[in-house]
Amino acid sequence: MAAEKKPMQTKNKVLIAGISLIIVAGIAVGVYFGVHKNSSSINRRCNGTPTTSAPPTSTTAVTPPDQKGTMINGTLFPYYNLTGEAPAPVGFLTPGTYSISYDDGPSEYTHELLDMLDKENLKVTFFVNGNNQGCIYDPKVQSVLKRAFESGHQIASHTWSHPQLPKLSVEGITTEMTRLEQAFQDILGVVPRYMRPPYGAGTFGPADTDAKVQTTLKNLGYVITTWDIATTDADIDDNNAVHKLSDEQLMKVEQGQVTSVVETGPKGATHMQLMHDTYMRTVRLMTPWTINYAKNLGYKLVPVATCLGDEDPRTWYSRIGPPSPNPPTTCTK
Ligand SMILES: [Zn+2]
Repeated sequence: MAAEKKPMQTKNKVLIAGISLIIVAGIAVGVYFGVHKNSSSINRRCNGTPTTSAPPTSTTAVTPPDQKGTMINGTLFPYYNLTGEAPAPVGFLTPGTYSISYDDGPSEYTHELLDMLDKENLKVTFFVNGNNQGCIYDPKVQSVLKRAFESGHQIASHTWSHPQLPKLSVEGITTEMTRLEQAFQDILGVVPRYMRPPYGAGTFGPADTDAKVQTTLKNLGYVITTWDIATTDADIDDNNAVHKLSDEQLMKVEQGQVTSVVETGPKGATHMQLMHDTYMRTVRLMTPWTINYAKNLGYKLVPVATCLGDEDPRTWYSRIGPPSPNPPTTCTK
């Protein structure tokens, strides 16, 4: 089970050499794919028309006359369902933005992380599992997930059980997504449009299995999201040889993963950093370090969707509706 909880295969750490330069509307935006060299077609539709903050045109309003909706970060978002083909969410990578995202949670450290982000007035993205390191229906998990959502952080899917999606059938991939959709609807009343495949699998070959994964996810309406910086927090914890190092020594390794990408590329290039809120070191040490580091370089810290040019929370979700009044409290069925 431990292997399935790792965000990527350790061998991928050696693939740091992948570098792509993407030109968007005459603006050169350097993006460095330190982990998965061939993933540039996934979440970087850089030749498209930039999206605006206008609500999705294909939204069918289901707002009842009493204007019921969900409060997100102090703003009422009336209920809606997206119908038909979802609007293109990603127009370009927004220069000068830097997103921090956390996979595999929430965890016992997530409340502490949210406290820190509240103090900094920053929003991040959480790629959430249904049943991996914890069960999403656990009342404590439901509580912290609601807090993250209602305070304006982007909630996105990381599959129900964190499998290698290329190893699954189309039906299996669909079940991994829809089972978590049901949980998000039960707990939050929403269905996220953004997802990140566990390990990035399905985004870096081989082509036939990638096509199966990507086509299935796109048919379900998902924007597939990867990253260009991985701190390798989970990899380091799972590596016994390195695990003997102190937190300070581990921090140096993780900081090196960040600086090696950021400081070898064009100034102001967009970055999307992957960490895990399931590690105390990541929450207490690496998160504040990253915030200070990015700010000192002049970056605006935003959720992943905003980093990709999608600033309106209404297009982060294909549905916003009422949560279940009595959601399940366990993951067993
Ligand atoms: Zn993961």
